[in-house]
This record gives sequence, C-alpha cells and structure tokens, in this order.
Amino acid sequence: MANSNSALLDDLSRRGYSRRAFGRISALLGAGAALPFYNEAALAQMSFSGNVPADAVMINANENPLGPCTEALEAMSGILRRGGRYLFGESIQMGELLAEQEGLKAEYVQPYAGSSDPLHRSVLAFASPSRSYVTADPGYEAGERAARSVGAKVVSVPLTATHAHDVREMVKRAPDAGLFFICNPNNPTGTLTPRQDIEWLVANKPAGSVVLIDEAYIHFTDVARCTDMVAAGKDVIVLRTFSKIYGMAGLRAGAAIARPDLLEKLRFFGTFFLPTTAMVGARTSLAVKTLVPERRKYIQDVREETLSYLTGRGYQAVPSVSNKFMLDVKRPGREVIRALAAEKVIVGRVWPSWPNHVRVTVGTKDEMARFKAAFAKVTA
Ligand code: PLP
Repeated sequence: MANSNSALLDDLSRRGYSRRAFGRISALLGAGAALPFYNEAALAQMSFSGNVPADAVMINANENPLGPCTEALEAMSGILRRGGRYLFGESIQMGELLAEQEGLKAEYVQPYAGSSDPLHRSVLAFASPSRSYVTADPGYEAGERAARSVGAKVVSVPLTATHAHDVREMVKRAPDAGLFFICNPNNPTGTLTPRQDIEWLVANKPAGSVVLIDEAYIHFTDVARCTDMVAAGKDVIVLRTFSKIYGMAGLRAGAAIARPDLLEKLRFFGTFFLPTTAMVGARTSLAVKTLVPERRKYIQDVREETLSYLTGRGYQAVPSVSNKFMLDVKRPGREVIRALAAEKVIVGRVWPSWPNHVRVTVGTKDEMARFKAAFAKVTA
C-alpha cells in the first residue's frame, strides 16, 4: 500500500500537483473536511435563498418523491438494532449483488455513500493542473467545480442540436484531457447521448485519459448501460447511485464501477465506513425486480402529462427521458423561479448558458398539479 501510494504521488506530481498541495487535499478528505465540492443537494440549496415552508412542493433537486421501496424500509428498520456495530459485510454484499447484476466480477464494483464521492475522487485522480476536465454545457456542475478547485482547466462544450454530448468536439478541444464527464441521461436536460458516440469517445480519447460515465438517471430509460465497457477493460468509470430511481438520496448509497486498477486510484483518497442502513436498503432495493420498471413508468407518465399541459399553454421543454426537464419560460428563468417560490413551489436552477430555461424535477401527480396551477398563475 505504501508503495502504491508513493507511485500515485509520483504520478500526481508529474501532472502538476505539488506533493504539498496533494497531501493537503488528501489529509482534508481523510478528516472529512468540507472541500469546495458540491453535490446536487448543495447546488439545489445554494440556488435558492429563503426559508422553504414545510408544505412547499420541492421539485428542485431531482429527488424521488416516492422514497425507498417498502421492502427497503423494512430491511433498514430491521438493521437499526445492530447500528452499534461496523457491519462491513453489508457494503460488501451490496457490491457483490450489484456486480452480479451488471455481469461483472465483484472487484469491479466499489460501493460508496452516494455517487458524488467517487465523482469527486475521479476528478482528483484524473484531472489536474496539466490535464483538463472536459464536460458538456449545460451539464452537471459538481465535477467542474471540483476540477477548478484543484487548478484543472475546465473545457465546457455545448450539447449538440439533439442535446447529446458533442464527443468529437470534446476530443478536438481538449488534447490534454485527463477526464471526460459524460452524464447519460444528462443533468439538467434529461437527454441521451447515443451509445455509438460514447464508444467513439472511448476509442478516440487522448492516451492516459479516462471517461467518467455518470448513469445517475439511467434507470429512467431502457437504453443499454455502459458497464459492458468496463467488462471489456476500457478506460471507463461508470457511476451508480441509489438517490434517484431507488428514492434513497438522504440515506446515501452508490458505487463506482471500473477496472480494479482505476478503482484503486479512487481508493487512494481514503476508505471510509459506509452507512449500514443505506447499504442494506440498497441491496434490498436491487433485489426488488418490479421497482425499476414500475417507477420508470410512473415518472414517465407524470412527466409526459405535465409536458403536454405546458405545450398546451404555449411553453416548450426539451424532450426528456428522465425525472426532470428543462422548460423554456420565455423570460429570465430566475424571475419565474422567484414567482413560483412565492406560490410555495420550489423548482430547480438556471444554467448561465440557457438563461430562459428552468430545470423542473418530476414529482408526484399531486405535486405536479400544484406546479401546474402555480405556473399558470405566474405566467398569466
Ligand atoms: N450525478 C448526477 C448527474 C446527479 O444529478 C447527482 C445528484 O443529483 C449525482 C451524481 C449525485 O448524487 P448522489 O451523491 O446523491 O448519489
């Protein structure tokens, strides 16, 4: 372990980090300190100032209003009595089941407390002052904030006309890339990047770079996942989270799926005990075969019904396959966000490159009925 740490430190120093800077980051992470890293919850919270009334509709952070499934709730309450123990076996079992379902050996899956943690570790491991972080615009901001905080250049490439990642432009604009971030389906647009484009990127990226494929929202679609690229030994890390379709955002479970040598580079930043409740909830949820198709259909139905209502009122959204959509509100999005908040409906943020769009998360039928009523009022 000491040897592999020193090899990693050598590698980091070649990429422009001073050992001192790196030591500091790694010590802070080890101590659980608040680095300038933000996940969706933090970004959603920061974009909204003011007190949120308890009865407000919260459709601003891409959460799942359905929460954990019944089976997970029962399993988690059952394990509470054993909460005095470090039950390491629970995260191992969760990882093993996930690996089995993805058709991978167990050593290709590393559980984490959510996917933000491995996302940030990937930035630290593969982007650096001499290796760019390459992402889409509009895209999920967490990684680019982390990249900036460690002095890496951020190359942000507009989505294509069909709202896919423009992989050819991403490669062209970043010959020094260290990490490509592909969010599929994308946050905030809820749009897909075709499989052949991701394959092209993996085949044509600069030597030594890694493709981070964030599949936080993949379960809302029936497209093929990219874990087979991991099995094929590619330079790819796939992220999974239990925060979205599984409804466990506050409980914290996720995983990084990659070749063992890539996972080892993420483990370098420390190994921490993972919450037993979340690991038990995640494993139980994975075993519930009806969960994904049922929830996918529910969200899809509510989303399409909301979008057709909005279209009927003359408002267009980017066609989404996910649990959120980008709505063109035809005026500065921030104004509409404020007006909706006054009606106790909290929607998501605005991306600087799309100032007239707001991101709306798909809630329950009742929540979206309140959203529609509030939207009709503020746009009357
Ligand atoms: N990746 C994307 C694209 C997200 O939108 C989110 C949360 O919204 C995450 C990762 C991280 O989620 P968590 O850390 O809760 O797993």
